Amino acid sequence: MTTTSAPAIEVRGLRKTYGPVVAVDHVDLTVSEGEIFGVLGPNGSGKSTTVECIAGLRRPDAGSVRILGLDPVTDRDAVKRTVGVQLQSAGLQAKLRVREALELFASFYDDPRDPLELATRLGLGERLDHPWRKLSGGQQQRLAIALALVGRPKVALLDELSTGLDPRSRREVWELVEEIRAEGTTILLVTHLMEEAQHLCDRIALVQRGRILVTDTPDGLIGRTAAPLIMSFVPDRTLDVAALTALGGVSDVMERSGRMQVACDDTAVLAVLDRLRDEGVRPEHLRISESSLDEAYLDLITADADASESDATAKETV
Ligand code: ADP
Ligand code: MG
Repeated sequence: MTTTSAPAIEVRGLRKTYGPVVAVDHVDLTVSEGEIFGVLGPNGSGKSTTVECIAGLRRPDAGSVRILGLDPVTDRDAVKRTVGVQLQSAGLQAKLRVREALELFASFYDDPRDPLELATRLGLGERLDHPWRKLSGGQQQRLAIALALVGRPKVALLDELSTGLDPRSRREVWELVEEIRAEGTTILLVTHLMEEAQHLCDRIALVQRGRILVTDTPDGLIGRTAAPLIMSFVPDRTLDVAALTALGGVSDVMERSGRMQVACDDTAVLAVLDRLRDEGVRPEHLRISESSLDEAYLDLITADADASESDATAKETV
């Protein structure tokens, strides 16, 4: 394979500590030009610290960061003109008005969007003269997104893109993000919403305790779980749950409001149906669906947490 262009973001061996806390521990990641790349992980896993290092707002203890080929710490000015950043704490002056903030941020860039048009799209058209401090949480969030995107940046770093937004605003923000990517912006976003990650991201990195556990496409992540399928049905009589659970390829059997849910891989589907037939159980309203990114996330994060716990126990006992 021949590579045509340098990656938009390249992070190698990134490490950042706060006193005794290792917030980011040897993170490697590469985001290609034009990609929407998601970072998912529990609170405190180092997502924001990573974004801040990529944006040049924090100096790494070790490792290297390149964004559009630039070092974000030493090439700070050049990075500021081409990168848009939405931080979890926007840190704007309380009295700065929406219009002023947008015009100020637009002035940092060579070819910005029309700030008023962007404000209108994000539902802030009637709040232009409001000081930042008087906006609701969701409005502050939308302004932060607008400020990150107003400069038509080559790369946008969006930390907790749609946290606190109502479902409709969230959809509008998704549309905007997709449109901006179509115009050529590379996007790295942090999110806690699986639906958002699945909808928007080409690839996702799962992080935990400052490390990347896995990087893959949303479908690839789902495929990595032990149970990529969910069979669900209403049994017409009591069934032997233990016997179902013991079948090869079945990883979990649970009941949810009268429906049985069998989490399994595709080799187990026929075995489950055979077992039900042998027991004389009819699976009514049978549905077989793909496991969701939600389940894949919990599976992968929990498996890693369990592994590190037994590691720790092993170390304590030696
Ligand atoms: P996330 O964004 O994934 O929730 P953060 O990068 O904010 O994670 O935090 C990672 C870890 O670093 C946490 O343990 C957090 O408490 C700690 N941390 C973050 N910022 C600071 C700071 N400014 N000073 C000290 N510790 C911090
Ligand atoms: Mg964070």
